Amino acid sequence: MYQIPRGTRDFIPEEMLKRRFLQQRMEAVFRRFGYGEIQTPTFESLELFTAKSGASILDELYNFSDKGGRELALRPELTAPVIRCYIERLQMAPKPLKLFYFGNCFRYDRPQKGRYREFWQAGCELIGTDTPEAQAELVALAYSILKGIGLQHIVLNIGNLHVIHALFAKLRISDAVKKDLLPFIDKSQYEDLFSALRANDISQADTEAFLEILQTPDLDKIQAYVRGHEKAESELARLRDIMELLQTSFGIPDARVKIGIVRGLDYYKGLVFEIEAPVLGAEKQLCGGGDYELVGLFGGTPVAQAGFAIGFDRALLALETERFTFPSPSLDAFVIPVTETAIGTALTVAQQLRSQGLTVDLDLLRRGIGKSLKYASTQQSRYAVIIGPKELEGGTVTLRNMKDGIQSSCAIADLTAALFV
Ligand code: AMP
Repeated sequence: MYQIPRGTRDFIPEEMLKRRFLQQRMEAVFRRFGYGEIQTPTFESLELFTAKSGASILDELYNFSDKGGRELALRPELTAPVIRCYIERLQMAPKPLKLFYFGNCFRYDRPQKGRYREFWQAGCELIGTDTPEAQAELVALAYSILKGIGLQHIVLNIGNLHVIHALFAKLRISDAVKKDLLPFIDKSQYEDLFSALRANDISQADTEAFLEILQTPDLDKIQAYVRGHEKAESELARLRDIMELLQTSFGIPDARVKIGIVRGLDYYKGLVFEIEAPVLGAEKQLCGGGDYELVGLFGGTPVAQAGFAIGFDRALLALETERFTFPSPSLDAFVIPVTETAIGTALTVAQQLRSQGLTVDLDLLRRGIGKSLKYASTQQSRYAVIIGPKELEGGTVTLRNMKDGIQSSCAIADLTAALFV
């Protein structure tokens, strides 16, 4: 017996129905915000992913050499591929460029609930603008997608990496020590961070103040803390603008400032944001994004870039955990030829209804009326269309409402109209 590879999943029809439903809802919101879809290959040059992150990312990658000796990798994310495509084909396009994608990603992660080796991301890149309104719109888009699919409880945190740098500069913490401390911030392990700062001779008072700034949503407090650090001050002013726009123009009252968002420092620059679904527990992060710089690194003409990626599988898990009601599979009609002589007519009737846009199946097992009706109800069919010798003779069918069992005779010519009610 062959088994599915670890960390991957099959999706059977009832699962695909949910996934497609969700995908379509997400795509509709991207389009409403003026984004156009982009698709890139499933594998890329390995270098595309090691250029920014270095060899350390190899542990997480599915990489291989092909028969021509090329070093390739299954994509672990879609930002680098989209930027590669932008440089190859879209640099001259009018700005800003709004690109969205939906695709599978591969990471050699340790599989658990909400963490897979093949998973899907829905995300976007905004290229050519970094005005506060552009960045606010980007954050609002991520939030609107997750609200738009029906999630009730999500938490949106927004930070800025320049401010984090200013915090470290204020305590005169070296880059080497900073590197060791960042994972604690990333995982909100504040007790460990406290001990590590104290072990690096930071006073108790300074350590406590630092920890408070990482966690407080109060922009005034943060501003007072970084006063004198020019870049941090201007970035905080931008963050204030973004928060204001989110609240007043986008009607998002619950965005929260959290300076202690790190999100892979080698990637992002200023704005960073995360959206979580607390119902998911350990793997609760649904979306991460911010502004970053890859175009210059990949040899293009430097330009403002920002984007986010939503973990599609986790968004679905969160909806299921919140007991969202997904559409269930259903048929408009199930056609039942009662005798062999009715099979030809049954096929014709099914075809006629399908050509009118109705979803129709029919008995292909010659299993008789009782079993066929049972099957039709397992398929959630609204109607059964029964055709026996009597019906054949009169050019009619018997139409059975599967909900209440009420039957009536209907001329074949009137059937489409009867089913459209
Ligand atoms: P990242 O590209 O790491 O910022 O991830 C963006 C989003 O993708 C995360 O917030 C998660 O929701 C989702 N994600 C990342 N890794 C996995 C994984 N191994 N399995 C499922 N979802 C993931």
